[in-house]
Amino acid sequence: MAPKASPRRKDAPRSARARKDAAAGAEHLIYFFGAGRADGNAKMRDLLGGKGANLAEMVRLGLPVPAGFTIATPLCGYYYEHRHTFPPALKPALEAALARVEKIMGATFGSPTNPLLVSVRSGARASMPGMMDTVLNLGLTDVTVKGLIAQTRNERFAYDCYRRFVQMYGDVVLGLKPESKDDQDPFELILEEVKQARGITQDRDLSPSDLRRLVSLFKDVIFRRTGKPFPEDPRAQLWGAIGAVFRSWNNPRAIAYRRLNQIPDEWGTAVNVQAMVFGNLGDDSATGVAFTRNPSTGEDKFYGEYLVNAQGEDVVAGIRTPVSIEHLAREMPVSYRELLKIQKTLEKHYRDMQDVEFTIQRGKLWMLQCRSGKRTGRAAVRIAVDMVREGLIKRDEALLRVEAAHLDQFLRPVFHGKDKDRALEAGRRLAVGLPAGPGASSGRVVFNAEDAEAWAARGEQVILTRIETSPEDIRGMSVAAGVLTQRGGMTSHAALVARQMGKVCIVGCGALQIDYKARAATVDGRTLKEGDWISLDGTTGEVLEGKIETQASEVVQVLIEKNIRPQASREFQLYDRIMRWADETRRLRIRANADLPAQAEQAVAFGAEGIGLCRTEHMFFEASRITPMREMILAETPEGRKRALAKLLPMQRADFKGIFRTMGSRPVTIRLLDPPLHEFLPTKDEELANVARLLGVSVERAREMSHRLHESNPMLGHRGCRLGITYPEIYEMQARAILEAASELRKERISVTPEIMIPLVGHVRELRFVKRVIERVAADVRKETGARVSFLVGTMIELPRAAVTAGEIAEDAEFFSFGTNDLTQTVFGLSRDDATKFLPLYLEEKILDVDPFVAIDQAGVGALIRWAVEAGRSTRKGIKVGICGEHGGEPSSVDFCHRIGLDYVSCSPFRVPIARLAAAHAVLRQRREGRA
Ligand code: ADP
Ligand code: MG
Ligand code: MG
Repeated sequence: MAPKASPRRKDAPRSARARKDAAAGAEHLIYFFGAGRADGNAKMRDLLGGKGANLAEMVRLGLPVPAGFTIATPLCGYYYEHRHTFPPALKPALEAALARVEKIMGATFGSPTNPLLVSVRSGARASMPGMMDTVLNLGLTDVTVKGLIAQTRNERFAYDCYRRFVQMYGDVVLGLKPESKDDQDPFELILEEVKQARGITQDRDLSPSDLRRLVSLFKDVIFRRTGKPFPEDPRAQLWGAIGAVFRSWNNPRAIAYRRLNQIPDEWGTAVNVQAMVFGNLGDDSATGVAFTRNPSTGEDKFYGEYLVNAQGEDVVAGIRTPVSIEHLAREMPVSYRELLKIQKTLEKHYRDMQDVEFTIQRGKLWMLQCRSGKRTGRAAVRIAVDMVREGLIKRDEALLRVEAAHLDQFLRPVFHGKDKDRALEAGRRLAVGLPAGPGASSGRVVFNAEDAEAWAARGEQVILTRIETSPEDIRGMSVAAGVLTQRGGMTSHAALVARQMGKVCIVGCGALQIDYKARAATVDGRTLKEGDWISLDGTTGEVLEGKIETQASEVVQVLIEKNIRPQASREFQLYDRIMRWADETRRLRIRANADLPAQAEQAVAFGAEGIGLCRTEHMFFEASRITPMREMILAETPEGRKRALAKLLPMQRADFKGIFRTMGSRPVTIRLLDPPLHEFLPTKDEELANVARLLGVSVERAREMSHRLHESNPMLGHRGCRLGITYPEIYEMQARAILEAASELRKERISVTPEIMIPLVGHVRELRFVKRVIERVAADVRKETGARVSFLVGTMIELPRAAVTAGEIAEDAEFFSFGTNDLTQTVFGLSRDDATKFLPLYLEEKILDVDPFVAIDQAGVGALIRWAVEAGRSTRKGIKVGICGEHGGEPSSVDFCHRIGLDYVSCSPFRVPIARLAAAHAVLRQRREGRA
């Protein structure tokens, strides 16, 4: 379901410029185009919207475009601010522009003998395909339709235009369009009745008198529903349609689309009024859409579809199946050749892949729209790389055109081979929702989180399917292969959590009707029962029936699974090219968060230049280690703890050796034990008994210890360096494991400089305390091994106090790493795990623009980081600073880190390519701003 417009939002498009321009002269309101002359151009999209600006530009390029004019976007603001009215100056300006169109087209608006018809088209700054409304064939009345018949000598055509117009006008302007898919469009109902009564199935079999009858039936229903007759005055129709286009800026679809694509509500839409050309004038007429290159593969081949004897919206409406543009070469060779030439001209001119709309009227080609075409990630990269080779764009431009989301598509799992295409052909697509978490996944439907956990525990792959998700569902979500919801937008709880977890996720799939009690859902007339297989394409939002195998992307197969040779994968080569360019451009270093040698290897494969965060506690969760770890935690005395730690030492040392060996001379930052100890204790009774037995203590004793470790607020409790200070033997063991591992590797001629990182420091003396412990261990290790290992001791900056006193902390810290997850929690004073209860609403209500756990909150958390960097550097010149945490792989955060001069960012291995690209973008953007 699309979000409802709040009263405030309904009045949203307003700006100082709107008022100013609306009060100013007429030339600021309306921009004419036609017959080789245009007031506007492509650079004026803020004012004219994308469609208007490009129509003007095409006219300037000398392309055949039906004449028309654009009512500028500030008028949309005026319209909303003045209770749906227009400024007085608009009317004369419009009349003047209309007169010019009439002259060029050789027809007169409203003429009973030679009527000009127009389309009234929406068009915002950013393209919002299909989101707002358009009315075609405007100007037809019972009088003018006679003129159209006389002019074309085609009664069927004229009445077909007329009935389409009355229907569209009724839907768009008079508000008869059904609210939801379940409501029937009254016009479609009538159409069906008439067809049935005549015993025909196809629209094209309707006779002229059928169509005439439809017009009058349509008008009847309009009168019944609105209490007003259909306007028989073309000028009244025109003003009505202009207002409707402005109002469509705030229809639920458009609002939802803006949310999704971060388009400001204030922009407003322009209105384009343009002379009609007709693709439905017979078999020498046609209409179509095309891309100058293939938008899914990026191949440099003209690509498109068209329909003979049809009008614009038919191609997209899917009433008839359009044919491939290649056929046009045979059917209408002259028009095809002209179109081919035009698409080349456009691509050269715009230096980007274009998406065009065209219509052929009795053999004459007309261009109706061009814009930069939407494309898949693969196509985006291929087109960018190819255009550099073709000399159309520079490398910097190419890099900027590849977005993080494009690159992400190279890394996400995909459906196996052509399995999805086959499923689509077999009609297995059930519905389309909002693509909240990209990638492909397949699983069995379960309707609640407990079932998800239970099924997953049995080794089943499940898709958690809910009306909406709430914080109670988190555990179920984390074990699911994918998440599907009936309601909710791109900032809903499900979408938010899924993105954080990197889950495939589709939200707001309104076609789904879930019945929790029946453990079933209906969609598109089909029933899904618990346990049925479905497949989600989280990149497109498609939900498919049945199981479709998934596999790692080609790039992952080359880099990680190593089952495809790099030379054998075109996809990998495209990826690799972009990555090389990014690496040559960026300044920031990119590291990865990796805890185990296998992850470190992955990280290097994805291009990590070091490890920014190795969490030592993850090593303790392994089955063979959890027992000595628990023994250590439950020990009564330092001696008892040391005994247990002695068992852990060789294991940790081996871990570190593994990581150091994988990373070679690359830097590795190791964080000493951080989480509260109770996390390691068993929660279930039988586990507890098990541990008690192994440790030779009573169950009561184990339970008592466990209770004592319980904290009311563990996130702010006995954790981080507080553990290292109360139990110094823990950090001693870890420091020893690190330094011994490094010493041993020196013998293998691998020279490493470990960076030992102390977590949760708030006061410089905490750091000093721990540093002394480490230095003592280092002296011992040096004596024992005779090897001189150099190492650094630094700190996480993840508490506000540490950030504020960073100058002091830098006296002892040899590097800083900003732990932005904890820093965000402590700066906001909110726990991340509980935030899902209110964050979605905060985002919905725009209290926050973005989730601060996804993108760094620059004004708050970011300000502290900036301060700490400066303070740290003024104490210790050249101190190495970086960030670790989820933010390290998020583009806007990477940009911020670049601007404030960090040395590196560190993120999870799969985000490393995205961070590399984002770091290059940061450089290029800064350069552009410098030039501007
Ligand atoms: P959208 O932004 O949804 O694509 P458009 O304003 O482009 O809406 O118009 C919808 C359809 O009507 C398109 O196929 C377009 O080519 C067609 N169309 C718009 N204006 C005219 C016109 N003046 N003559 C013929 N077809 C038109
Ligand atoms: Mg269009
Ligand atoms: Mg932390």
